[in-house]
Amino acid sequence: FFPPSSSTTTYRHRCRTKLFSPAQMEYCHFHATTPRRQRRKIVVIMGPTGCGKSRLSIDLATRFFPSEVVNSDKIQVYRGLDITTNKIPMPDRRGVPHHLLGEIVDRHLTPSDYRSFAARSVSSISDRRKLPLVVGGSNSFIHALVANRFDPDSDVFHETEPDPVSKDLRYDCCFLWVDVAIPVLNQYLEKRVDEMLDSGMFEELEEYFHSGEFRESGESTGLRQAIGVPEFEPYFRKFPSHTIGTNHEVDSMRRAAYEEAVRAIKENTCQLAKRQAGKIQRLRGAGWDLRRLDATEVFRAAMGGLGSGSDSGSASGVWERQVVEPSVKIVKRFLAE
Ligand code: ATP
Repeated sequence: FFPPSSSTTTYRHRCRTKLFSPAQMEYCHFHATTPRRQRRKIVVIMGPTGCGKSRLSIDLATRFFPSEVVNSDKIQVYRGLDITTNKIPMPDRRGVPHHLLGEIVDRHLTPSDYRSFAARSVSSISDRRKLPLVVGGSNSFIHALVANRFDPDSDVFHETEPDPVSKDLRYDCCFLWVDVAIPVLNQYLEKRVDEMLDSGMFEELEEYFHSGEFRESGESTGLRQAIGVPEFEPYFRKFPSHTIGTNHEVDSMRRAAYEEAVRAIKENTCQLAKRQAGKIQRLRGAGWDLRRLDATEVFRAAMGGLGSGSDSGSASGVWERQVVEPSVKIVKRFLAE
């Protein structure tokens, strides 16, 4: 990354001297010409869990440089359980700075808290002349951040609220919505849970259950809500130690409790994705200009090619063509407006 620039002149100089690529120049041109009183521009990447938001954020951040990510997943804001909550691993971030990702400790973050914390991050990023990319699946957090007028007592997605979604936004927003057909996404999500378990999710949860953090936290606060925690709680209560039982009966009870927890995690993850898709439809219905990027074929290609290098290669090609390239065009146009 270039160090933060203190003046527009430096940016103009870098543009003239071609220190930026064409996409970077596009962005620095936007900064050099945008009067301060205009609303800040932000790109918001939305979509259900598992659809590829984090990957798209890095693909865009490395093209629209310099950019920084502000997390809008209400569970990933907390420190800990990195595998269970699916935080983007450090090497995959490719040096792109992330805000509000695993930063919150010892407190519960409400939408109202998120509104002020994330607004601070957005201001800091855009004051340093970088592009803020807001990325995550919690639509109530996204609404809280961007709504011009925010009522902390109203649940925007509650059916009985009369017209609760704010159309009046305090940022100039480019909304990118990564959509995947639900049956295809469900198939992928079930496989993802198995992969998370292979990567150490069970061991991570075991450590968490035996930690003071779990014992001292309130039941519906912070990481206690993460999918995986309530589902594995009965297992860890019944079998507090990891030692393998000596009799077959205990072993088969342990296996049955484990399998029940995994089944519940898969079911609850698919339900979360469905709920998130429904909330996105509500925002769209309320008039938010969401630009839809259909990633269904990417997931079909990736799952059709389990274990085959050529198909995973073709999934990457489909991702580039169907998601990244249209997103780049949309963001370029948005920044040039
Ligand atoms: P919002 O209502 O803010 O749009 P949301 O789309 O994240 O939130 P909710 O329907 O509120 O979805 O469900 C949130 C629940 O989903 C959490 O309480 C938690 O159980 C689970 N959840 C959400 N994100 C994650 C995550 N990254 N890791 C684990 N569990 C998660």
